[in-house]
Amino acid sequence: MRIKELTDYLEHIAPLSLQESYDNSGLIIGDASREIQGVLICLDVTEAVVSEAIERGCNLIVSHHPLIFQGIKRLTGENYIQRCIALAIKHDIAIYAIHTNLDNTLMRGVNTRIAEMLGVVNYRALQPKAPPADVAYDCPPELIGTGLIGELPEPMPFEDFLHKVKKTMRVACLKHTALPEEPLRIVALCGGAGSFLLRTAIQAGAQMYISADFKYHEFFIADGKIVIVDIGHYESEQFTMELLKEMIREKFTTFACHVTRHVTNPVHYL
Ligand SMILES: [Zn+2]
Repeated sequence: MRIKELTDYLEHIAPLSLQESYDNSGLIIGDASREIQGVLICLDVTEAVVSEAIERGCNLIVSHHPLIFQGIKRLTGENYIQRCIALAIKHDIAIYAIHTNLDNTLMRGVNTRIAEMLGVVNYRALQPKAPPADVAYDCPPELIGTGLIGELPEPMPFEDFLHKVKKTMRVACLKHTALPEEPLRIVALCGGAGSFLLRTAIQAGAQMYISADFKYHEFFIADGKIVIVDIGHYESEQFTMELLKEMIREKFTTFACHVTRHVTNPVHYL
């Protein structure tokens, strides 16, 4: 099985043209015609992850976040990105990223997985996006876009749902704005840094918006109109790794496919 066959399959689910303009999804390092010996899945490529790929005989790393976003002018090992690139090339390891294109589809994506885990149903994209023009894409238009808004099967107190979020998403500590008395029914969410969709979530009538990387002053925007819940960037996206493994496993069984043993979250809690 060649790398290209796997990446074509992943791009059938999450077409590259769905990625945001600042993104760099796709094959970043390596030769697409190479045979796959094994796949290692991660959220972030770090030196520990590349070393793990070498140890486990995986010559393809599938990462959610791209290792390279911007132009690199030298490879002298002065930062972890340069060291990862050098290590990967030295050991013939390809690196592929499936980032905002996987964020922007609810057919099967980052946010669908969070919704499934939290029991949010009847969902649609919070900020719809035009279907990809370059490929035939078999996905209902309301499921193409950024973030997600849906409902709970039964209304419940805000605090009860927050406890569920904390437990289900394995969050050591979550940040939230004041909780109202009324029951919670409409929930919006966005894995990763989703504060840019806060006003959209308010306008869409969400009572709660679960995402990550909110700044202090953004919490004031809630202003009694919505409850902001910041669960951490890594925490919100960590189950994307299992999602990718399932997607690959369903289609390919001729090579090993692992999720990294390393927690690449650079944020620690005390
Ligand atoms: Zn992210």
